[in-house]
Amino acid sequence: MFVDKATIKVKAGNGGHGAIAFHREKYVPNGGPSGGDGGKGGNVILQVDEHMSTLMDFRYKRKYAAQPGADGGGRRCSGKDGADLIIRVPRGTLIRDEATGAVMKDMSSGESFVVAKGGRGGWGNQHFATPTRQAPRFAKTGNPGEERSVVLELKLLADVGLVGFPNVGKSTMLSVMSRARPKIANYHFTTLFPNLGVVFARDEVSFVLADIPGLIEGAAEGAGLGHDFLRHVDRCRLIVHVVDVSGSEGRNPLEDFEAINAELAAYSPELASRPQIVVANKLDIVQDSAQLDTFRAEMEARGLPFLSLSAATHQGIGDLISLIAEKLQGLPPISIYEPEFVPVEEKPASPNDLTIRNVDGDAWLVEGPWLDQLLARVNLSDYESRMYFEKNLEQAGVYARLEELGIAEGDTVCMAELEFEYHK
Ligand code: GDP
Ligand code: MG
Repeated sequence: MFVDKATIKVKAGNGGHGAIAFHREKYVPNGGPSGGDGGKGGNVILQVDEHMSTLMDFRYKRKYAAQPGADGGGRRCSGKDGADLIIRVPRGTLIRDEATGAVMKDMSSGESFVVAKGGRGGWGNQHFATPTRQAPRFAKTGNPGEERSVVLELKLLADVGLVGFPNVGKSTMLSVMSRARPKIANYHFTTLFPNLGVVFARDEVSFVLADIPGLIEGAAEGAGLGHDFLRHVDRCRLIVHVVDVSGSEGRNPLEDFEAINAELAAYSPELASRPQIVVANKLDIVQDSAQLDTFRAEMEARGLPFLSLSAATHQGIGDLISLIAEKLQGLPPISIYEPEFVPVEEKPASPNDLTIRNVDGDAWLVEGPWLDQLLARVNLSDYESRMYFEKNLEQAGVYARLEELGIAEGDTVCMAELEFEYHK
C-alpha cells in the first residue's frame, strides 16, 4: 500500500528535576548540599532513510515520544539525559506544523531535523549554596519537552513527471527508459504507486523520471485516485504528457489532453503552466493516422514540443530521452521548500502566577513563567538593565508580597540562577 500523507504527534522528553540532597559521611559533620541536576530530555529527530518510499509506517503508529531526562541524585550525581528518538522518513518528505500549516522542513537533503526539542534539566541544590546559606533545601524542576502535531507529506524528487490517463503507457515508458520495473497491465488504475527511475541520456547526463499514477477526470476535486498523486508532480521540472493516439480504446487524443490539463490546472495553476512535452504513444497500432495528424497539428499550433513513439517497440524512445535532456538544461533545478515555520510566540505571562515561598528559614524562592520571561530580557551585568529588572519586580508587587509573607532584612531571595540579599 502506498501512503504519502500522515499526521503524527511528537513529544520530546521532559527535563529531569534537580535533586535536594546533602553530603553525609562519617567524621564529616556538616556536609554541603549535593543534589545533582536533572538530565536533559531527549529530542525527537527526523532522518532521511533512502530505503523508504512511502509513509506507510505512520499509518498505524501516530504517537512518538523521546525519553525524559532522569532526575538528579545525591552525591552530585546528574540524572541521565533522555535518549533522542529518531524517526525515519523517505527522502522528499515535507514536514508541516499541523496547527499553522507552515513548512518546518523539507527532508530533501540528507541532514536530520530536530522536530521537538527536549526540555532542560533542573539544577540540583548543590548550585544554590552560598556562604550564608549552606544548606539550601530547594532545587529547580526540569523544563517540559516540546510537543506538537506535524503533517508528513511525501513529494517525490523527480526531474520529470509522466502524466496522462490510465493505460496510455506511462509505466511502459518508464520501464523502457530506465531500469525501474513498474507494474504494467492492460487495465485502468494499475499503478497505485508512483515509481521512480533514473534515465541515462548521454555522457554523464541523467535525470530522474517519475511515473505518476493515472489522472482521471474530477481527480483534482478528490473524485478519484489522481488527486493524491498530483503532489508528486509538484517538484517536477518538466512534465511529459502521454496520450494514447492508437484509437484502440476509442479515445480522442485532444479531449484526453485537455482533460488532463484541466486536472492539473484545478490542482495548481502553477503546475499547469510547467513546461510540457507532448508524447503520442502506441504509434505501432495507430488505426486512424488522420486523427494523429490532426492532434500533431494542434499541438504544433500551440507551440508545444511534440513526439510520436511506441513504448512497446521502443521506436522514438531515444529521441524522447534526448529531447528531455535538452529541455532540462534550460530549466531551474528541482524545487526545495523553504521553511516558513515561526515558533508561536510565548504568551506574555502574568506576575499574578508567580509562586513565592520560604524554602529554608532565611531563603525565599520566587518562581514562575513571568519571571523567566523577564530574566530572558535583561542583562544583569549591565546597570541600566538591572534597574529595569528592579523596577519590574517592584511594579509587579513581588517585594510587597515578600513583605507580607514575612521576609526579614538580610534574607536571601532566589530567582532562577540568581540570588541576592534582601534590603529595604
Ligand atoms: P499506464 O497505465 O499509463 O502506466 O499504462 P501501462 O504502461 O501500464 O500500459 C497499459 C497497456 O498498454 C499495457 O498493456 C501495455 O503493454 C500497453 N502499451 C503501452 N505502450 C504501448 C505501445 O506503445 N504500443 C502498444 N501496442 N501497447 C502499449
Ligand atoms: Mg501505470
